[in-house]
Parts: sequence; structure tokens; C-alpha cells
Amino acid sequence: MASPSDRAPLAERVEELLAAGGPLPIVAAGDPVLRRGTEPYDGQLGPELLARFLGALRDTMHAAPGVGLAAPQVGVPLRIAVIEDPAPVPEEVAVARGRVPQPFRVLVNPVYEAVGGARAAFFEGCLSVPGYQAVVARHAEVRLRGQDEHGRTVDEVFTGWPARIVQHETDHLDGTLYLDRAELRSLSSTEATAERWTQPTPTTAAAELGFTLP
Ligand code: ZN
Repeated sequence: MASPSDRAPLAERVEELLAAGGPLPIVAAGDPVLRRGTEPYDGQLGPELLARFLGALRDTMHAAPGVGLAAPQVGVPLRIAVIEDPAPVPEEVAVARGRVPQPFRVLVNPVYEAVGGARAAFFEGCLSVPGYQAVVARHAEVRLRGQDEHGRTVDEVFTGWPARIVQHETDHLDGTLYLDRAELRSLSSTEATAERWTQPTPTTAAAELGFTLP
């Protein structure tokens, strides 16, 4: 339960993070902040600090570069994430993976649930697990509920790659990493992925590395 005395340290911590300027340091797997879950955002930072924090998350995501970043990945245990994907991939890949461009969005207190039973399995990676990628079977379509940065209600269905991104980022807010859901036999270094597994789907990787697809 949050009390006023619990709130000040979180805002102070964010102020300290932002004071350094530039992209924020990204926390790597092994840090408990990625495993503890987050507290719902209910104004702990105030509008001015929240706006500056979101700007820093966006800059950090761009600099990485990544297509999503959750607050715990910069050491802040709040239920907030940002997403954005310009989808710079070949047409064949974009079609197979449903990788349509996703404009910048702020997710505040997001939760998702599956829409239908379809699953989609593709390689993905995480800024907090540098150097590796693995295949994760996820819901092909999800309903995402929460708020935006202005506190407005969000209730929206995501499909294709954006559905994967919102599941990955929302999982971070629950202390879950993509490796928890991954087919571990697919685990590939970034170099191996670039050399061998750039096909639109992971069918060849499944056959050669010995894992099954949904
Ligand atoms: Zn991640």
C-alpha cells in the first residue's frame, strides 16, 4: 500500500536518474528490479516529472535502439512503458510477422488478455538481455486496457508485431522476462540470428535447433 511517505523516494530517484541527462542506463537481467513487479501509476511523479520521465524513456528507447521500454528497465518500479516501431524490415518479413509500423505510445497501468486462441511464434530480443534472441510463442491478438499519459482510458485490440510488443512490455511490469516464455532451444546469439535466422518465420530454426512451433 502506498502512503505519502512512500512516494517521495520514487520521485527523488527519477529526478536523480534524469539529472545525468541523455539516455538512461538500461538495467540488465539479474537485477531484482526486473523481477519484483511494479506499482500502479497513480500520480507518484506529478505531471511535470512524469512528462520528463516519459521523454527520457523515449530517448533511451530510440538510442538503444529498441521498439519498447518499460520503467523497471531503467530501475523505476512503476507500471509504465513506452512503445514505438518504425518497422524497418523487408516487405516479405513485414507480411509474415505482421510487422506494421507502431507510432509512439505511452502505456500506463496496462494489462492484456488474449483475443481468441491463435498463437504466433517468432524470434524476439530484449534490451535487458543483450546479445541474444529467442523464439517466443505469444497471443496473436490481445486486448490491452489501461491509460495513456494523460490518464485517458485505453481499451484497444492489438494484432501482429504490435501485439507482441505490448505483451513483452506489459510482462516486464509484472516481473516477467521474455526468456520465461521462450523456447530455450531457440536461444541464439545476435550474430547467429543475423547469420542464420533472418527468414520471415522460424520454421527453419525450429527444424535445425530442435524445437516445436505452435
Ligand atoms: Zn524487454
